[in-house]
Amino acid sequence: MTTMPTGWRQVPMPTEVKPLPRDPRGYLVGWTTLWESGTRTLRKVAGTGPTLVCTCVPGRGRPLLGQVCPQRQRACMNERRCQLCGLRIKHRFRAVFVAGAPKGDGPGFVIEPPLHRSCAAYAIQVCPHLITGHRGGDLHVAEVQEYHLLEQRVRPQGRDLSAGLLPQVFAPGDTDAHAFGALDNLVAAPQGPWTPAADWLKHTRTTA
Ligand SMILES: [Zn+2]
Ligand SMILES: [Zn+2]
Repeated sequence: MTTMPTGWRQVPMPTEVKPLPRDPRGYLVGWTTLWESGTRTLRKVAGTGPTLVCTCVPGRGRPLLGQVCPQRQRACMNERRCQLCGLRIKHRFRAVFVAGAPKGDGPGFVIEPPLHRSCAAYAIQVCPHLITGHRGGDLHVAEVQEYHLLEQRVRPQGRDLSAGLLPQVFAPGDTDAHAFGALDNLVAAPQGPWTPAADWLKHTRTTA
């Protein structure tokens, strides 16, 4: 159960996110959120082989907050779309990744798609699960011009499907990937540096 931070309605809303649908609390539903409409099925797709295909439609049925539609997750990563508003991040702007503290100095793998700068600043102050990370000092931000992608493939752990799916990350074009399992999410590897979210937010406010 998440509780809304006090004062979240006072945080100025970027224009891009205004048309987004709301949940019954009046809370914005991000573009990559999974909706109850539609189904998720395994299909053979040209290029990616076995792939989790989702037919949910934003605004139809109930939003399943905290769950991500694999179809729109991949669209965001592939097409440089913002995971909050769903619009493209123009190439003259950098793509902003928000994630937990990466380990070491490496690129760090990120499953959450990029955001516009303004959408990221808004999300950090408003989204309950991001706020928890932000307050705990764990949340970090990387602004990058380019990022490369890897594939997260999944397969059942065994015969009992309730045991959940086993994920593994593959480089694109890896011939073992299609045999391992279905393409679920795309994983980005943004080259840092990673800045603590609080510092990034302070800097963004003064330069916006
Ligand atoms: Zn979907
Ligand atoms: Zn956006």
